[in-house]
Amino acid sequence: MCMALIVQKFGGSSVKDAERINNVADIVTSTYKEGNDVVVVVSAQGDTTDDFIAKAEEINEHPSKREMDMLLSAGEQISASLLAMAIERMGYPVVSLLGWQAGFDTTSDYGNARIKKVDVSRIKKELDKRRIVVVTGFQGVNKYGDMTTLGRGGSDTSAVAIAATMHADLCQIFTDVDGVYTADPRKIPGAIKLSSISYDEMLELATLGAQVLHNRSVEMAKKYNIELEVLSSLTRRKGTIVKEESNVEKMLISGVAKDDNIARISIIGVPDKPGLAFKIFSRLASKGINVDIILQSIGRNGTKDISFTVEKDKMDETIQLLHENEERWGASNIVSDDNVTKVSIVGAGMESHPGVAAEMFEALFSRSVNIQMISTSEIKISVLLNKADGDRAVEAIHEKFFETN
Ligand code: ASP
Ligand code: MG
Repeated sequence: MCMALIVQKFGGSSVKDAERINNVADIVTSTYKEGNDVVVVVSAQGDTTDDFIAKAEEINEHPSKREMDMLLSAGEQISASLLAMAIERMGYPVVSLLGWQAGFDTTSDYGNARIKKVDVSRIKKELDKRRIVVVTGFQGVNKYGDMTTLGRGGSDTSAVAIAATMHADLCQIFTDVDGVYTADPRKIPGAIKLSSISYDEMLELATLGAQVLHNRSVEMAKKYNIELEVLSSLTRRKGTIVKEESNVEKMLISGVAKDDNIARISIIGVPDKPGLAFKIFSRLASKGINVDIILQSIGRNGTKDISFTVEKDKMDETIQLLHENEERWGASNIVSDDNVTKVSIVGAGMESHPGVAAEMFEALFSRSVNIQMISTSEIKISVLLNKADGDRAVEAIHEKFFETN
């Protein structure tokens, strides 16, 4: 068998205890035994990162972001060293490396740093010695020489960055589900595993709340054309391939996703004249507030309403910002609701098939679910719903597109 360079990433659940770590060591060493170069990227064990955040809160409710990253980056150090020890015990040559040792050069934004480049010379040197290289995911170092982290779930992005920089032959993302499903298989029993999905569809799904892959990892995989395989570290079954083009017999819809991390804000009764949307949204953008669905009513009697959604944890900040500038908008009222959820369908097939939206709305109507807002792109349709309707809505939509024919 010809030698390949394989990057294997293992998420927190795959390394959560000694048994799981030994299981990962088995997977890694069997790949190595076949003659491949293997770079392994690990996340922190189980809920370690959440536990660290809780520990920090006990000490200081507003710790600096720098110290937070100092703390959070420790999680991956634990799993990387433990995995290396397991591999060592099995008799294979191995070395574990922290983000900075592995050459991860990032921007300075603590807690949400971007990878600028990966200087892989150290990794290469270790591979040349025929060592298995275990790298801590989720972290790097900034220009001040300080530890940074890449944002929650960022280890996927670490793995893809190494795969892209080293032109790896394969990048496998091991997790606790054995692939990408048409809906969350833990909630929808009829969910179907996809054999493949395109980058664009995966990107929409990842962004819309399907928690399989970090969306930045998909963006990067697309940019550098790195094929990803999403698979389970427990079942050893074939997973889902993420690549440029999915199945030839394209499915109309490739998945349904739900995102509860959302809030709706409405600015009521603003004057119906040019420039208001510009003023409001540029103000929000300047504060780094990301706006998602936007809805503006038709002007009537000289006024109109503008509604939009933001991430839930940005709601208070957004409302405050709007109130501070109230006289600039001339609004009569600002209302908000975080008791909402966004349900979306994604599929490259809808570009060439009319009527997909109508089918989705019919499914919602069949369960008497009321739609608050709608937004569409070429390959996705999102609706904003009352939070209590979320699960029923996903069920109904999944049934309509995947369980009846
Ligand atoms: N340990 C980090 C987190 O929980 C990174 C990751 O899991 O990818 O967010
Ligand atoms: Mg994690």
